Amino acid sequence: MEFPLFTNSLRQLDLALKYTSLHPDTVAVLKQPKAAHLVSVPVRMDDGSLRVFAGYRVQYSDVRGPAKGGIRFHPAVNLDEVQSLAFWMTIKCAVVDIPFGGGKGGVSVNPKELSRAELERLSRAYINAIADTIGPDRDIPAPDVYTDSMIMGWMADQYNTIVRKSSPAVITGKPLPLGGSLGRNDATGRGGFYVLQALRSSLGIKDSATVAIQGFGNAGLHFAQLATDAGYRVVAVTDSKGGVYVKDGLDPVAVQMAKEQSGSVKAVKLQGGRLEEIPHSKVTNDELLKLDVDLLVPAALENQITRENVSGIKAKVILELANGPTSFEADSALFERGTIVVPDILANAGGVTVSYYEWVQNRAGYYWALEEIHQRLQTCMGKAATEIDRTRKEHRCSMRTAAYICALKRIGEAVEAHGTAHYFQ
Ligand code: NAD
Repeated sequence: MEFPLFTNSLRQLDLALKYTSLHPDTVAVLKQPKAAHLVSVPVRMDDGSLRVFAGYRVQYSDVRGPAKGGIRFHPAVNLDEVQSLAFWMTIKCAVVDIPFGGGKGGVSVNPKELSRAELERLSRAYINAIADTIGPDRDIPAPDVYTDSMIMGWMADQYNTIVRKSSPAVITGKPLPLGGSLGRNDATGRGGFYVLQALRSSLGIKDSATVAIQGFGNAGLHFAQLATDAGYRVVAVTDSKGGVYVKDGLDPVAVQMAKEQSGSVKAVKLQGGRLEEIPHSKVTNDELLKLDVDLLVPAALENQITRENVSGIKAKVILELANGPTSFEADSALFERGTIVVPDILANAGGVTVSYYEWVQNRAGYYWALEEIHQRLQTCMGKAATEIDRTRKEHRCSMRTAAYICALKRIGEAVEAHGTAHYFQ
């Protein structure tokens, strides 16, 4: 039995606190969310019936700036999960030093069971329910699991309708014609790729390293494409239905085309404009995690590497594109045996970083070229990765703890800038 997610998050925090001399005020502020909203989301279904879904929005911290974090549509969404994700957003924004706090939201729903029209009504109903608590200077949502740019467009539009003005900076990850940013769509996978490139010599990653990716959505797909273009061999991918292993490597573009056509990942190559199946073996999600590869990339959901399966993990490096894929116990076991885990709060921070660029562009009303966004993202991710790698070596701690140490220093400085007990006595 794993601990609740939020308990695990606080255990990660406690581990890092041992390496810091953080003021007790900062620790107290960080141990609970600023606000947690539970809302009901009523949706008129296509058949005329009414369903009421449970929705959540947590503003964990606004110490360093407005709360920021994605919205998830998934049946397993609950307050414990949303609170943990909002906590990690707080740490993540400080890791990459962008002026945001942390937030997260979600609806407990299986979006695959909804029609397009029901999905639009759900998205708008969710914004109706949380509109009073969000805003460009308060809390800025974005996409997450099973939410995409079209959903962000509906949500932004609904918010504009409520406040009776155009307010593009309220939500990021929007479609380009509605004030989205170039480079936001692949930013999470791209940011993870830039982190990998910045750390590769330190982590001993070879040019032709083999890669297995669990989860072939926004984060996993774009990482797979960039890694393949750079010469890595993506030998296995899975989605919620399992996946495929091909020793010589997959073509992520062809796999994505097959997923769009059939709804699941397939071992295929593009031949004369057509998809052709290639020799492969099928893998379950658990089998993928245990493949003998150089780099393992969890890019789906939380708690995938746990105390039950950690002993079977063979990869020497794990790059967490998903949030919270490694349980606290598994993380400790991996550290003890020398496996490097590049933590979620660094590896997947590219998404929120380009969301920040989108917010800046929306507020300025001036839009940047794609090259500029890639350049800024690469500099930002490289800087954070190098700082965290240096901190890891200095303290002989895990990369996750090192990332917390760097983030906590910034959050602590912000808390102390408001005055601490020492100042007021
Ligand atoms: P997505 O909805 O685009 O894709 C999710 C993928 O995971 C799909 O391929 C789905 O089939 C697969 N999946 C679902 N359940 C699975 C399971 N049990 N086992 C294996 N695969 C499963 O979502 P995404 O945006 O790519 O998000 C994936 C992860 O990345 C999440 O943890 C999310 O919080 C994190 N993340 C996303 C962003 C972003 O900008 N989209 C930013 C930071 C972190």
